[in-house]
Amino acid sequence: MHLEFTETQSLIQQTARDYAQRRIVPVAAQIDRESRFPKDILKELAELGLMGVNIPASLGGAEAGAVAYVLAMIEISRACASTAVAMSVTNMVGEVITNFGTEEQRNRYVPMLTSGSVVAGSFALSEGGAGSDPGAMRTTAHRDGNHWVLNGEKMWISTGDHAGVFVVWARTADRQTAPGTRGISCFLVEPGTPGFSVGKHEEKMGLRGSTTVSLSFEDCRIPASALLGEENRGFRIAMMALDGGRLGIASQAIGIASAALEETVAYVKQRKQFDRPIADFQAIQWQLADSRTELDAARMLTFRAAWLKENKKPFSQEASMAKLFASETAVRVCNRCVQMHGGYGFTKDYAVERHLRDCRVTTIYEGTSEIQRTVISRSLLR
Ligand SMILES: Cc1cc2nc3c(=O)[nH]c(=O)nc-3n(C[C@H](O)[C@H](O)[C@H](O)COP(=O)(O)OP(=O)(O)OC[C@H]3O[C@@H](n4cnc5c(N)ncnc54)[C@H](O)[C@@H]3O)c2cc1C
Repeated sequence: MHLEFTETQSLIQQTARDYAQRRIVPVAAQIDRESRFPKDILKELAELGLMGVNIPASLGGAEAGAVAYVLAMIEISRACASTAVAMSVTNMVGEVITNFGTEEQRNRYVPMLTSGSVVAGSFALSEGGAGSDPGAMRTTAHRDGNHWVLNGEKMWISTGDHAGVFVVWARTADRQTAPGTRGISCFLVEPGTPGFSVGKHEEKMGLRGSTTVSLSFEDCRIPASALLGEENRGFRIAMMALDGGRLGIASQAIGIASAALEETVAYVKQRKQFDRPIADFQAIQWQLADSRTELDAARMLTFRAAWLKENKKPFSQEASMAKLFASETAVRVCNRCVQMHGGYGFTKDYAVERHLRDCRVTTIYEGTSEIQRTVISRSLLR
């Protein structure tokens, strides 16, 4: 058993860390305060190879594997969780198209994402009435000659107003004949297609530099060649993509909470009460120790799931365990960090306030903690 990173993994980690500390950390609070989408930064991430970490070099990716991806995501998330969302979804979209696309689809879309010629990709599965249960989706696609015609509304779509390509799921068979998750297909949609528009922007508690929008399809005609994978078998693609996506969210949670903990360690050493640094109090020391231990456990779960993915072994249950534990840990750690900052932690003068808001969603998106528990227990009980 090796617990050391390879040269490539260490290089990617260092590249992401250096860039994040130099370029992102100084503007992260401003991105949050002004709800500013970090377009320029995302382009630079692509130039560094971080928009396709686990994508073949022939498609413009870094071809560095899933563990390297996790390491890069942690570093970018330590600096700015809003930037990390777009990075995570874009890597996921690139991998989906790489794994399930035709040669033509791959060559058309993946290099766009990895090179930064478009700032992001979007993953459009959820709907207002279909979140934890995406099989209940109402968006439809029907075949009309050489086209598919999409109708419906997607909700919560990250970076949907900036994406250069959308992976969209729609029902292609009648709910009666193909109930639940059967009869769902997956499509690639380009922005600007007639009948396709971006709707409401959500006003969020955290991740304020990341945009979250609804998408509307009204008799939106896309070519027959826009089908990704097989007709009526698209749900499988979504589930496989989310297994990988959960590694991204676990990493995001770890990165955010690591930043909060680092800032808290520095704070408790200089903040004095009762004529001593508050770091002298055992109540503070134990919170730091628990946080560090739990975060390291989250890291190990995430590295293991990524290693399994990289080595082409089953990793669905492990990815859910990593996402569940890392996200719940991050919320707990960030909450403790605010507590250790006292009243100052409740103000915008200290970054822990932003970290707590940013990490809150990690137990919700790409499958809530309750859904992760369902996935894990299903594997156990099978
Ligand atoms: C900031 C943000 C960005 C997002 N980005 C994207 C994106 O890019 N693409 C995309 O497709 N989606 C995206 N989502 C959607 C996200 O994946 C969903 O919000 C999430 O899956 C939960 O769905 P829901 O909000 O409808 O909650 P619901 O499904 O309504 O859940 C509400 C509560 O009920 C619980 N619950 C539901 N079913 C069960 C069950 N069977 N057992 C136990 N408890 C249950 C849930 O755990 C939760 O606590 C995003 C969401 C947010 C907030």
